[in-house]
Amino acid sequence: MAQAIDLPENALVALTRDSLTALRTALFRDVGPSAAALLQEAGYAGGAAMYDAFGRWLAARGLGTPDALAATEFGLRATEFFRDTGWGAIELGTLDSVATIDSPDWAEGDPASPLEFPGCYYTAGVFADFFGRLAAAPLAVMEVECRSMGAERCRWLVGSGEMMQHVYDAMGQGIGYDQAVSDNYAA
Ligand SMILES: [Zn+2]
Repeated sequence: MAQAIDLPENALVALTRDSLTALRTALFRDVGPSAAALLQEAGYAGGAAMYDAFGRWLAARGLGTPDALAATEFGLRATEFFRDTGWGAIELGTLDSVATIDSPDWAEGDPASPLEFPGCYYTAGVFADFFGRLAAAPLAVMEVECRSMGAERCRWLVGSGEMMQHVYDAMGQGIGYDQAVSDNYAA
């Protein structure tokens, strides 16, 4: 039986999915496309506390520190942690030269509020800081599939800023992200 996470102890608050979705909708309605960057900035700002909370969560289970976990163990524990904090399950993988984070039930994704583009911007910010800390290197995160677009899962790509820019530009020209990733060396 999973033990509940102590929210105040971890500088966390319980926010409902409905509020998160409403916030996104209101921001895009009143601010326009730059709402994406605002949400991402907010997520990024919380990455440090999220990473610390994960560290405490691991320590409470006698599992050491995040950077000391083997890759498979890390994926397993990270999914438990994000599920315990209400976000959803994640699966970590790789696609050519980038890392992937997939989730079939991520809280920021909302099939009931259909979007034209992937919409989990807040999460992209959190992941950029969270996984950047783990890697001890600056990382960029971009969502390429989203349940808010009717996809089966949300999928974020994780890599260097340069790589994400390349994928973003390629997608803008109608090239699939999977192709953009594998074509990178020729770009
Ligand atoms: Zn999503």
